[in-house]
Amino acid sequence: MTAPAVAILGFSIECNRFAPPAVRADFEGRCYLEGQAILDEAAKPAPRAPAELSGFLEGMNASGAWQPLPIMIAAAEPNGPVEQPVFDAMLATWRAGLEAVKGRAQAVYGIMHGAALATADHDPEGTLQALVREVLGDIPFVCSYDLHANVSERMVATVDAFVGYRTNPHLDMHDRGAESARLIRRLLAGERFFRAHRRLPIVSPQTALLTAQGPYAEVIDLGQALAAQDARIANVSVMGGFSYGDTPFNGLSVIVTATDRDAAEGLAQRLAEEGWARRDRFVAHLTSLEESVRLAKESPVPLAFADVADNPGGGGRGNTMWILEAFHRAGVTDAIIGIIADAPLALEAHAKGVGARFTAQFNRAVASDDPYSKPFAAEAEVKALSDGVVVGRRGIFAGRTVRLGRTAWLQVGGIAVVVIEGRTQCADPAFLEHLGLDIGKARAVVVKSRGHFRGGFDEFFTHERIVEVDCPGLTSPNLRTFAWKHLPRPVLPIDAAATWP
Ligand SMILES: [Zn+2]
Repeated sequence: MTAPAVAILGFSIECNRFAPPAVRADFEGRCYLEGQAILDEAAKPAPRAPAELSGFLEGMNASGAWQPLPIMIAAAEPNGPVEQPVFDAMLATWRAGLEAVKGRAQAVYGIMHGAALATADHDPEGTLQALVREVLGDIPFVCSYDLHANVSERMVATVDAFVGYRTNPHLDMHDRGAESARLIRRLLAGERFFRAHRRLPIVSPQTALLTAQGPYAEVIDLGQALAAQDARIANVSVMGGFSYGDTPFNGLSVIVTATDRDAAEGLAQRLAEEGWARRDRFVAHLTSLEESVRLAKESPVPLAFADVADNPGGGGRGNTMWILEAFHRAGVTDAIIGIIADAPLALEAHAKGVGARFTAQFNRAVASDDPYSKPFAAEAEVKALSDGVVVGRRGIFAGRTVRLGRTAWLQVGGIAVVVIEGRTQCADPAFLEHLGLDIGKARAVVVKSRGHFRGGFDEFFTHERIVEVDCPGLTSPNLRTFAWKHLPRPVLPIDAAATWP
């Protein structure tokens, strides 16, 4: 086995049960690559593919000869559940690709998210992983996951090693790809891994799953510290989960991969107990809209306001108007609000051109029964336009090409509003700066992002200068406001009565 052949596939989307379904175009607009195109894309200076891919390729290249067998990678902005026929068609593509490498592939690497849904499948990653096993049998198989994964028993059972992100905002995708390569090398060399899995009845608000501070950070850090002291431990993954997936297997999960079964079970149990001991701290700390308006006007220092309830990175539509309307009515100045997904308005601004003044009609095309995306109109001037092809500068999009679609800076009174044709969370300052906006001169910067903006805007706003605003929306951290259908109950913090084990 001097140059082992390793199949590569990927499926990455985070699905909000309450958002409209994802369709094929959502993948084609972000990343849908088959065969050699996967390697061609990865070789570009700013690839569109998930960063794990580059990390994995570098990790494999650095550790000896090998032959990549690229199959298919599909990735999309978080959205609602994937239309079942769309996912079924992808499964057929993966199956054909796996059949084509059967007998040649000696290992498989899967770039997964872990919080996907299809309209008739709670666990599409588990389905895809089972397909890999069905076609290729018992060969080394390693998958990496976003830390918002809702971990099913099948996901853990069908891989040899389970590798989850450790940072939120996610800054270690590349590293986890490289780690996956190291684990595949170990498996190819003959090592055998065991996995242990514990799930707690804690479905945390997404805002309570930061890894710089807080209860989640403490459990992750402890897991890494204990793993470093025990050579039998190959990986420790503490997965916060994605509440809005609303699956039967939601819940903070610990997955330990080790060369020894007892070592895996012991550490998974210990970390689950540590998580449970912190259960009362997985709660949201939000600021009312009224107080946010006051802060935007009166704060002696510039502040970032996170519109956490309308995060496109969690399936939000990126177009609710609560903050824009309130800031505008209150006469807030020196503010930037971005990025608002409104294709008709972005296209109208492009048609009118820079310097045009007009009445900007936000959300004119939204269904009238949408409870969150309400219309709003205000006088605006087109200050700048772009094609929206932006290379990320900091945070989760750093070094990657993102297509925002046609983009406009509309000046609405004292507020610079960035409107885009597509739908993307505002996680990178380049999304605003490429239009000529100066973030450092703004008093208030509103971002439609739950937390990934922290990795991009950290050079402007420290943790203490971030306000998480309490507005209605598809990604509201007020979890009691959702009509859950599939969550295991009782569960914290929704139900006080949850118990474990
Ligand atoms: Zn995530």
